[in-house]
Amino acid sequence: VVVLRNLRKTFRGRGGSADVVAIDNTSMRIERGSTLGIVGESGSGKSTLARTLLGLIAADSGEANVLGVNTVGATERSLRPLRRRAGIVFQEPYEALDPRMKVGDLIGEPLKLHRGLRGTALRERVTELMQLVVLDPALAERYPHQMSGGQQQRTNIARALATEPELLVLDEPTSALDVSVRSEILSLLVSLQNRLDMTYVLVSHDLPTIRAVCSHLAVMYLGRVVEQGTVEQVLGSPSHPYTRFLLGSAL
Ligand code: ATP
Ligand code: MG
Repeated sequence: VVVLRNLRKTFRGRGGSADVVAIDNTSMRIERGSTLGIVGESGSGKSTLARTLLGLIAADSGEANVLGVNTVGATERSLRPLRRRAGIVFQEPYEALDPRMKVGDLIGEPLKLHRGLRGTALRERVTELMQLVVLDPALAERYPHQMSGGQQQRTNIARALATEPELLVLDEPTSALDVSVRSEILSLLVSLQNRLDMTYVLVSHDLPTIRAVCSHLAVMYLGRVVEQGTVEQVLGSPSHPYTRFLLGSAL
């Protein structure tokens, strides 16, 4: 579903500071129906990689084939099929929520745009989606700023799931959620994956989450993928010091 080859992304340093190599020559393959976890310390390039995958950030060089679309050097037009078939939940719950739109409309927007739903059918589907992510349908009339961080994030997840995307990129989607809602959302994601044969990329700091949800794991360090394989392979015999550190500190 996803093939990356020697992907590279540099951010220009401002005001004399050095350039940052956020993704440094990264290659990977993600098979259909698998869940790739990405771990790595803060600043190691996880969010940049997540966005580059979907063409939201333009890589400098390398190749990225995502659901058959080349996202390196892509135009908005060539990315359109990917936008329809892939979804993303950002790390910051507020980021993707237009503050002028009500929650119900935010969740319904992709259904209107990509599935042509209108009227009662649309409203019913929005209610279903809200129930799915454990969000009281009465909140549909609220604006994002009237919701808690966790409610905002569930809105984002409902919005991303609305079109049942083939590929879903989740950038620390549950860090703003309390433990009970977190496990509910995670088991929801797992059951949807089994039902819909979705492929997930899940950025997370949380090893229990990775173990519960992921089939594969990539460890990033300073913009590079320093380890990748199945979760058992990587966590069973970690080769990079950061992976060992992560395992050691997660007691
Ligand atoms: P975290 O765990 O804190 O979310 P991350 O692994 O997601 O970290 P990224 O957000 O991908 O890290 O950032 C990777 C590097 O690129 C960092 O050094 C960051 O400062 C830099 N960076 C990210 N976005 C930009 C940007 N828009 N402009 C300049 N530098 C950026
Ligand atoms: Mg990040």
